[in-house]
Amino acid sequence: MNHKKILDPWGSSNPLEDEDYERIIREFGIEEVNDVLRQKLIKNRFFRRKIIFGHRDLGDVFKAIEENKPWAVMSGIKPSGPYHLGTSTTALEIVEFQKMGGTVYYGIADIESWEDNGIPYEEAEPNAVDNLADILAFGLDPSPDRAYIWRQSKEPLVQDICFKVSRLVTQNMLNAIYGEKTFGLYLAALIQVGDIVLPQVREGPQPTIVPVGIDQDPHIRLTRDLTRRYYKTFFLPGATYHYLLAGIDGTDKMAKRNPNSSFTFNESLESIEKKVKGALTGGRKNKNEQQERGGEPGKCMIYKMLMYHFEDDDDILADEFERCVKGELLCGEHKAKCVEKVLKFIEQHQKKKEKFTDKARELLKID
Ligand code: SF4
Repeated sequence: MNHKKILDPWGSSNPLEDEDYERIIREFGIEEVNDVLRQKLIKNRFFRRKIIFGHRDLGDVFKAIEENKPWAVMSGIKPSGPYHLGTSTTALEIVEFQKMGGTVYYGIADIESWEDNGIPYEEAEPNAVDNLADILAFGLDPSPDRAYIWRQSKEPLVQDICFKVSRLVTQNMLNAIYGEKTFGLYLAALIQVGDIVLPQVREGPQPTIVPVGIDQDPHIRLTRDLTRRYYKTFFLPGATYHYLLAGIDGTDKMAKRNPNSSFTFNESLESIEKKVKGALTGGRKNKNEQQERGGEPGKCMIYKMLMYHFEDDDDILADEFERCVKGELLCGEHKAKCVEKVLKFIEQHQKKKEKFTDKARELLKID
């Protein structure tokens, strides 16, 4: 199988088979999250629920926590549209890492939204405000000692890092990592190196963790290589990797061209309801068969939506898993409950978010 094709950071989120994950972990030297590590991170629900399966250099963060030293969690968003289930996974992870004591660095990737989607910087501004309001509504603390937020096009340090490390980059290297892409996308990748190294350039060497989907690993590898060669005293930026969500309608991708494959956090409640009702389940053909053989929650998008986003209570999740497998829980009933939870969450989120729009404008210096 062609790995370059699978790990395309600019492709739609593309769920991989278990064996793909295993091979990628082996091939690119990603460390698995074992039970000992998971136990240490038990308060973070993405580790607890095994949504995050791998990492690079998370040990540096633990050491910093133990020694009471600073560490950073860095991520960002391409302001090309509203939050959806995929982008919000990373955002929720950032908030969890901030709660563990990390300082958040959040980059608005407007250079990338131009290079990848052709959206001019000014046209990306409403999306940038909207996206930032979302993560603030998720609970991100934006106070200056807890978070630094920037737009790539307005942050001289990011551009400076990009220019500096570019001296070490050849076209062959980029080809090997990303395959044949436009020069603009290569440039966006190097700008992203600037985003990831920024915490250490601003605040001095410190462990930095970048929560990503596995499809973003090429950026992490490029950044680590260039950090090793240019910023010799810096920590190599680390990462955590989460499983990618499939389309909720059962298609293999959450894709904008297929609106039923996901919903955004700005959509009308009616539209979201319709999509959740149409989600793929792991249920059997009919009630009798479900009761006899049990369902397959591992294949079920209703279960996954609840696990990633909408069910806070671990005991309820575990109980529903068991009842599904035993054939005691039926899809109609479970779907109705999921719809109710999703709509309640979205309604509250949309209200909360309204209150953060001005703050987001202020933080991004957008009138
Ligand atoms: S009972 Fe629930 S978890 Fe099981 S397959 Fe049906 S919807 Fe999915």
